Amino acid sequence: MSNETPVISNFIRTIINEDLKSGKREQVTTRFPPEPNGYLHIGHAKSICLNFGLATEYEGRCNLRFDDTNPVKEEDEYVVAIQDDVAWLGFDWGGEALFASDYFDQLYAWAIKLIKKGKAYVDSQSADEMRSNRGTLTESGTNSPYRDRTVEENLELFEKMKNGDFPDGAQILRAKIDMASPNMNLRDPAMYRIIHAHHHRTGDKWCVYPMYDFAHGQEDSIEGVTHSICTLEFEDHRPLYDWFLKELEIFAPQQIEFARLNLSYTVMSKRKLLQLVNEEYVEGWDDPRMPTISGMRRRGYPAAAIRQFCDRIGVGRGANWIDLSVLEDCVREQLNETAFRRQAVLNPLKVTITNFDKVEMLNAPNHPQQPDLGSRELPMSNELWIDRDDFMENPPSPKKYFRLGPEREVRLRNSYIIKCDEYITDEKGEVVELKCSADLDTLGKNPEGRKVKGIIHWVSAQHAQKVPVRIYDRLFNQENPDKASNYLEALNPESLQLTEAVVEPSLLKASQGETFQFERVGYFTVDSKDSKEGTPVFNRTVTLRDTWAKMK
Ligand code: ATP
Ligand code: MG
Repeated sequence: MSNETPVISNFIRTIINEDLKSGKREQVTTRFPPEPNGYLHIGHAKSICLNFGLATEYEGRCNLRFDDTNPVKEEDEYVVAIQDDVAWLGFDWGGEALFASDYFDQLYAWAIKLIKKGKAYVDSQSADEMRSNRGTLTESGTNSPYRDRTVEENLELFEKMKNGDFPDGAQILRAKIDMASPNMNLRDPAMYRIIHAHHHRTGDKWCVYPMYDFAHGQEDSIEGVTHSICTLEFEDHRPLYDWFLKELEIFAPQQIEFARLNLSYTVMSKRKLLQLVNEEYVEGWDDPRMPTISGMRRRGYPAAAIRQFCDRIGVGRGANWIDLSVLEDCVREQLNETAFRRQAVLNPLKVTITNFDKVEMLNAPNHPQQPDLGSRELPMSNELWIDRDDFMENPPSPKKYFRLGPEREVRLRNSYIIKCDEYITDEKGEVVELKCSADLDTLGKNPEGRKVKGIIHWVSAQHAQKVPVRIYDRLFNQENPDKASNYLEALNPESLQLTEAVVEPSLLKASQGETFQFERVGYFTVDSKDSKEGTPVFNRTVTLRDTWAKMK
């Protein structure tokens, strides 16, 4: 794994350009085909950006199609969440979402067509028999004793399968291809299986369901998908898809495979993500530590940062391990441009300004580099909170340490320069208060005859409000959690720490989902679930710099 951004490969564009030039294709239609059995994650984002991005680039279209062929695992909650996430990422599928289940009648008719052509048969072997007759990578399989059933017999049995005359697993419809093929996918693969289960859209209409492999290529064909882009594990399935399309004599989309995204310190298998949710290692699919789109959104990652990340990592066919810091850097880059600056203190130390006996409303810019973003009022008074880390009793030389110490000066961000005249300790010797004097001639200008380098953040104690803050860190503390004997052992026990901050009053008006830079601290987002009006709960989105490598 490395931090380097890989070279952007556009091998897919090259194929598309050739297809358009040669006349093989006249336009570009792609699709994003999620199975609604979980929430979308950052790996899906890569596929979404690729498919929708190409459609935009070539002025074509990209369908959102749910591959809902397995009623046991699929739910409407996922359908809703997936649409929400794709839209939030900034993409438009132009009209209604599509569903594989809309094509069940057509797929059933096509299965019958193959039976009639003598290209499909009903097998009555048990699952165990089928497995042992399948052969291995080095040995051919063995033909099923039911392989030579007549067309009539097959039609009758398939009809009975559909009518619910058999229990789950008793019969299966298989394509009649070649039990000796070196490609295991061509050894008479299953086309239809019996599942007596309620489907989220077709209800109890069906008790036979097409296998993914019998459905996927035909769904693309029905939709006129010109370029069917998928991940590399489907490369070996391509000959099977092409066989079905040829035997059915229907339009054949061009399948193109690319390497799936793997991200360090992350797991992406939906089975594992579901386990994290079900066994409550996290709060839900949208827990801000999850690699899901909804988790990242709640954490405060901007959609533009995720799109930028997908752009930056490019598309290729080689193993694709990306360091999590590449994603975090994209988040920082976006937020640095857009996030309003605010002052908040996580570890407060009291400061009394001895020569300041009023409340003064200062004007502080929302973004120091972007005056267009306006400003807010920031109250200053004689009692402040600063961060404990910004004071040292015995600081190193002023050339190395620019913050407060006895007799040292520092600028309060957006305010005056103050000098520490005295510090007070409790019986344990811990510093509990600083007494400082302000140079009242330094608001918005440098002092005469001396340079003050340090700037620290602060809030006025009488105006500050205490708010809950959740410090999120990486969910896993190992680069590749799947390398541990059980990935759960790689969970980072410190991925969430609950704390509090005192914040400037303008932050209490912040709305859900708004992200701020707490100056000198990090980026924080108002949680969209647990915040109430006037009492925001802040999620740490990302630190200001990458501190992971240094800390561990
Ligand atoms: P599972 O985790 O159950 O294997 P899946 O991740 O393949 O499922 P799907 O809903 O089938 O989930 O995925 C929809 C699309 O997203 C597919 O076209 C798939 O190729 C793509 N996709 C999924 N994971 C990644 C990934 N890590 N990188 C790139 N594309 C991905
Ligand atoms: Mg899949």
